[in-house]
Amino acid sequence: LGMIEQVEPRIAQATRQELADQRASLKLIASENYASLPVLATMGTWLSDKYAEGTVGHRFYAGCQNVDTVEAVAAEHARELFGAEYAYVQPHSGIDANLTAYWAILAHKIESPALAEFGAKGVAELSEADWETLRHRFGDQRLLGMSLDAGGHLTHGFRPNVSGKMFHQRSYGTDPETQLLDYDALAAQAREFKPLILVAGYSAYPRRVNFAKMREIADEVGAVLMVDMAHFAGLVAGKVFTGDEDPVPHAHVVTTTTHKSLRGPRGGMVLATEEFAPSVDRGCPLVLGGPLSHVMAAKAVALAEARTAEFRTYAATVADNAKALAEGLLRRGVSLVTGGTDNHIVLMDVRSFGLTGRQAEAALLDSGIVTNRNAVPNDPNGAWYTTGVRLGTPALTSRGFTPSDMDAVADMIAGVLTATTPTTTAAGQPSKAKYELTDDARSRSLAEAERL
Ligand code: PLP
Repeated sequence: LGMIEQVEPRIAQATRQELADQRASLKLIASENYASLPVLATMGTWLSDKYAEGTVGHRFYAGCQNVDTVEAVAAEHARELFGAEYAYVQPHSGIDANLTAYWAILAHKIESPALAEFGAKGVAELSEADWETLRHRFGDQRLLGMSLDAGGHLTHGFRPNVSGKMFHQRSYGTDPETQLLDYDALAAQAREFKPLILVAGYSAYPRRVNFAKMREIADEVGAVLMVDMAHFAGLVAGKVFTGDEDPVPHAHVVTTTTHKSLRGPRGGMVLATEEFAPSVDRGCPLVLGGPLSHVMAAKAVALAEARTAEFRTYAATVADNAKALAEGLLRRGVSLVTGGTDNHIVLMDVRSFGLTGRQAEAALLDSGIVTNRNAVPNDPNGAWYTTGVRLGTPALTSRGFTPSDMDAVADMIAGVLTATTPTTTAAGQPSKAKYELTDDARSRSLAEAERL
């Protein structure tokens, strides 16, 4: 930081302050973690300076021999860790991984058969009329993904996202009573809608998914099964999710981030079967430009870490901690979407406290607990104010928290929410954003955060 200080002190100061803030508070954001020092250090090197568009051994720039090593090692770790036939480690983020996968599936399923039909060997041989036909077919394809309020991600077909614009999309929800995935209802929807791509995976669903069932549904309607395991990749890597709960043996294409429960650098990856590998391998130039070589190197380091026995213990503790947190909250009368958890996520429904998600998130932040507000199924407050607060255990587990610590965390959360009341507006209505929190509850929680 001393070096940075001399060039731009404000950046040195913000970086220093971020460390202090992360140390002073409890990080319960389900998508965040603490990468190891080797992972962080690997990101800060001169590998960042190298351009390497292309793939291993086939680059559009000279002098890529070291980047070739980096990319090959990262892909090898990814294949071996997840038991995948093919791994593509270039995507810069989860969104890039999903875009790469979508275009690769379109290229494999639509473009290649169309080229054969047009009698063309490659896209360069297409006439304007052929392109017009192809564009129409690309734009005509259907995608079925989980809705945002049921826990899906915006890249799963949300209209304002490019995935909702490049496909004709529909979304599936959860059972209104149990808030759990209803595979029969999903199968019926898939039969009627006939998607090209069925997307499974989530950002805020606190339960495991049966990917064998998902594949049966996809097969029945001739869809490609794409699983976005961005959130739970660490639980797959750590063998907490095995058999039907492991997406890799069941999906055609699996996408992920590397920075959430997997505890690597910010980035993305695509895993695929041999069938889809050649299309995914065209991620650059299909969607991506030059890879971030320093980040691919850090992915390799993080994946090597994830192959250790310690990581398996870590992943098991992430799930045990989530269960302990959920049980602690339920014992204190907090209501949870689906009534609990069996992954790393706990989704609180805070309406019984008379609060919106936004008020609860802000009051918890004041009290040293960092979370994010989140929609619950059929949320009456919409996606901005929300009725839920999402909690996750990957980060605290990296700090060494165990199930007995999680009861203390549940106590802090329930205490703060009980001591928070919405401010009344001039019209006498409860505000959706402003709130009051007693000084006593705030200082008790801050002291406990410091102690933990
Ligand atoms: N997919 C899922 C399921 C996610 O939860 C997220 C992140 O929130 C993403 C994709 C996007 O990841 P990124 O923020 O790296 O683009």
